[in-house]
Amino acid sequence: LSVIAEVEPRVADAIGAELADQRASLKLIASENYASPAVLLTMGTWLSDKYAEGTVGHRFYAGCQNVDTVEGLAAEHARELFGAPHAYVQPHSGIDANLVAFWAVLAQRIESPALERAGVRHVNDLTDEDWATLRHALGDQRMLGMSLDAGGHLTHGFRPNISGKMFAQSSYGTDPETGLLDYDAVRARAREFRPLILMAGYSAYPRRVDFAKMREIADEVGATLVVDMAHFAGLVAGKVFTGDFDPVPHAHVVTSTSHKSLRGPRGGFVLCQPEYADAVDRGCPMVLGGPLPHVMAAKAVAFAEARRPQFAGYAQTVVDNAVALAEGLSRRGARLVTGGTENHLVLLDVSTFGLTGRQAESALLDAGIVTNRNAIPADPNGAWYTSGVRLGTPALTTRGFGAAEFDRTAELVVDVLSHTSPTATRDGSPSKAKYAVDGGVADKTRAAAAEL
Ligand code: PLP
Repeated sequence: LSVIAEVEPRVADAIGAELADQRASLKLIASENYASPAVLLTMGTWLSDKYAEGTVGHRFYAGCQNVDTVEGLAAEHARELFGAPHAYVQPHSGIDANLVAFWAVLAQRIESPALERAGVRHVNDLTDEDWATLRHALGDQRMLGMSLDAGGHLTHGFRPNISGKMFAQSSYGTDPETGLLDYDAVRARAREFRPLILMAGYSAYPRRVDFAKMREIADEVGATLVVDMAHFAGLVAGKVFTGDFDPVPHAHVVTSTSHKSLRGPRGGFVLCQPEYADAVDRGCPMVLGGPLPHVMAAKAVAFAEARRPQFAGYAQTVVDNAVALAEGLSRRGARLVTGGTENHLVLLDVSTFGLTGRQAESALLDAGIVTNRNAIPADPNGAWYTSGVRLGTPALTTRGFGAAEFDRTAELVVDVLSHTSPTATRDGSPSKAKYAVDGGVADKTRAAAAEL
């Protein structure tokens, strides 16, 4: 830090403050974790300085032999770790990984046959007229994904994201009674909508997904099954999700982040069946800028860590801890979407405390508990204020928490929310953001959180 402080001390201070914050609070954000020192150190190296557009052994820049080594290792570890035929480790983030996958499906399913028909051998040979035809064809393509309030992600065809512009979108939700995915309803929607891409995967669904069933549905309607395992990649790597619950043998294409439950550097990657490999490898320059060699190297290190036997123990503990957290919350009267969890996250309906998600999130933060507000199915407060708070166990499990610590965490969460009330704005109108938390309880909880 002293080296950084010599140049810009305010950055060094912010880095130090972040470490202090992360140590003093309870990090329950389901998409966050603590990467190992080996992963962090790998990112802070001179590999960062190298340009390496292209793929291993086929670069548009000279002198890429060391980048070839780290990219090759990251891809090899990813293939071995997940049992995938092909891995592409260049995406800079989860959103980028999805974009690579979507273009690859369009290229493999639409572009290639269209080019063949037109007698064009390479995409670079397309005339303006060909492109116009292609754009028209792309405009008619459809994506079916999980709705946002059921736990889906913005990149699964929703309007604020480019996927919602590239595809006509429709979504499937969860059963209003149980909160669980209803595969018959997904099948019925798919038969009606005939998507090119059936998207599976989630950001806030607290249960496992049967990917064998999703593949059956995709096959029935001629769709490509793309699974976004960003959230639960660590549980797949750690062999907690196996058989029908492992997306890799069932999906045509799997996308992921490397930084959530997988505990690697911030980034993305794509796994796919061989027929999609060429199109996936065109990610850069099709939709990605030059790869980040230092991050690909850190992915190689993280995947190597995840191949160690200890990682399977970690992944199982993440789920056991989520169950302990869910039970601790339920036992104290909290309502959970779906009634519990089978993965690394719990979705808490805070309306029973008389709060919006926004109020609950802020009150918990005041008390040293870091969460994020999240919509629940059919949320009356919409995606901004919400009625839920999402809690995840990957980060605190890395810190060594077990069931007892998570039960205590549940106690602290319920205590804070029970001592928080909504307040009105200055002119007396009701507010979905303003709240008052009992100062004594917040102080006591902050101290308890720092000690845990
Ligand atoms: N996919 C899913 C399911 C996610 O939950 C997220 C992020 O939260 C992403 C993709 C996007 O990842 P990134 O922030 O790395 O672009």
